[in-house]
Amino acid sequence: MSKLQRVRHEFVDSIPEHMDEGVVYVCIPFAMVGHKCCCGCGNEVFTPLAPHRWRVTYDGETVSLADSIGNWSFPCQSHYWIIENEVRWSGKWTRQQIESGRTRTRDLIGASASPAFVPKPDDTKRSLIARLLRRAGRDRSS
Ligand SMILES: [Zn+2]
Repeated sequence: MSKLQRVRHEFVDSIPEHMDEGVVYVCIPFAMVGHKCCCGCGNEVFTPLAPHRWRVTYDGETVSLADSIGNWSFPCQSHYWIIENEVRWSGKWTRQQIESGRTRTRDLIGASASPAFVPKPDDTKRSLIARLLRRAGRDRSS
């Protein structure tokens, strides 16, 4: 298990069922970005694109993802930024910092982007819907 320092991006119509490590999948039709946790733990991370959640910047060669990604729900508790296809690692946050970050997130909602990814059930649901829709599309075309 080694921390990635770089990723590459792929623009996809839907998030693939098996994501490769080190690939950031940008799915515009579903406003969703998916990747495997950059620490190498294999957990899948979904970051929905929305005005007060995440946004992707594409400069023609690389992508940047804002805000940071904090995988607090995973055992690794990784926290990093993806900037111009580079992974910028943040130190591990203490439980207290995570809690205060969450509080700050709630305070800032509506005013600014959230500082950390706190997975919510609807994120999973949306990714499932994306996958189901993709399956439906494949069934139709076969
Ligand atoms: Zn991880």
